[in-house]
Amino acid sequence: MADKSNVLWEKHRMYLPGMRQKAVHRCRHCKFFVAIKGKLETKYGCVVSIKAYGNLEKRIPPVIPVIEIIKQVGLEGLDKCLKCSDPEAQSCGKFSTK
Ligand code: SF4
Repeated sequence: MADKSNVLWEKHRMYLPGMRQKAVHRCRHCKFFVAIKGKLETKYGCVVSIKAYGNLEKRIPPVIPVIEIIKQVGLEGLDKCLKCSDPEAQSCGKFSTK
């Protein structure tokens, strides 16, 4: 069993091909991470679950009005978008650079 307090062990992690880039990035570097502008405030969220943006059928603007998201996916979809609002969160498997 490896000693987890060993610094050398920590620095010799192995990644599957292509996974290193995803593991080192944060949500704020991802093209799906956008500002969602409401009437009174602007929040950040991830629009990968919205079909038009997730499939890259539509260009992803840096700021999207909240009403456009509600029209496409409703309030539940908006909640889902706002769940991934931490810009420092580790990127997921759908990460794509801006
Ligand atoms: S890394 Fe994943 S969770 Fe984060 S913004 Fe991109 S698609 Fe969304």
